[in-house]
Amino acid sequence: MALLPILLLAAAGCGPSSEPLTEEPAAPAVDAGETTPDPFAEAVSRLLTRAPTGLEGMTPALDGEELSLDLELAPGLTARDVLFHEYGFVKEVVEAFTALEGVDSVRFTVGGEPLTLVMTGGIDLSRPVREVPGGGRGPVPVLMYHQFGDVESPLVVDPGDLVAQLDYLSAEGYRTITLRHLLEHFLSGEPLPPRPVVLTFDDGYRTLYDLVFPLLRERSMVATAFLITGNVSVRETSVTWDMAREMAELGLEIGAHTITHPDLRTLSAAELERQLKGSRRVLEERLGVEVLFFSYPAGRYDDRVREAVVDAGYLGAVTTAYGVAAGEDDPFQWPRVRINRGEGLDIFRAKLHTND
Ligand SMILES: [Zn+2]
Repeated sequence: MALLPILLLAAAGCGPSSEPLTEEPAAPAVDAGETTPDPFAEAVSRLLTRAPTGLEGMTPALDGEELSLDLELAPGLTARDVLFHEYGFVKEVVEAFTALEGVDSVRFTVGGEPLTLVMTGGIDLSRPVREVPGGGRGPVPVLMYHQFGDVESPLVVDPGDLVAQLDYLSAEGYRTITLRHLLEHFLSGEPLPPRPVVLTFDDGYRTLYDLVFPLLRERSMVATAFLITGNVSVRETSVTWDMAREMAELGLEIGAHTITHPDLRTLSAAELERQLKGSRRVLEERLGVEVLFFSYPAGRYDDRVREAVVDAGYLGAVTTAYGVAAGEDDPFQWPRVRINRGEGLDIFRAKLHTND
């Protein structure tokens, strides 16, 4: 049977091989043969030839219209090791199986246990995957602010300009959403309001409480604040725990921005973990909220830092890379739209339409 070489390749656990094992590349089966083809087995064989290293088998089982796909991993490897950067492959798997008769969604398991893994590209493998997000979701501008005042620095926006920008958003029908809402939209198609925009404020400056928060309340807007926990109630220019708690209770989404704002790329594994998990834990304990999102200090990160953010239990992270966030983006590398001092409404308007 023509299928045999493919099955052998799959059984050997090797992906696309650099050297052909036979003189001819495996040809697709053209002869239907005597036996009835099993579409599930065929899909598994075909997909395994392109599987990432370490994925050695997939056992499908149909329960109603939900296909449970149990993954067999090479010894010593976790699903995260094998699948995390394999958005394209997971997408292919979901598309292949949901194209089959009677399959509505695919649930991934390992050893029968549900797989909890938010993938690169924004697929939540802990729930049945019906469709994978693509370019159709978003893009949504995530605006990035820091400090406000009369200081001549690009990061310090004039308070009057902020008022004008918020009024512009209201007048133009923009609706503010949280990062949680954005992630739910990307992962499971949770509907967004028309003209969605996310407002983020890094570092937890006192102006967040004195200036920004009242302006947001007047306009019924939501926002996300990334706090440096070591500064809270310590620095005069920072918010206090009481202020942060009050804002969190009134709906401000709280994210973490480490304990001391270091360059995370330079830290030991233990210190990296402390900065990521410690800041998250103290925010959750002191503010009584769930902290799901992270902002890389000064936008500095690498693959190791990103993996540590995933391991610390966050569901997403924002960078300082310029751009609008879209469904196909890695949720741990969402770009943002930086708002600088001295930018008039014409520039603000143009920035909101980045990628239009
Ligand atoms: Zn910062």
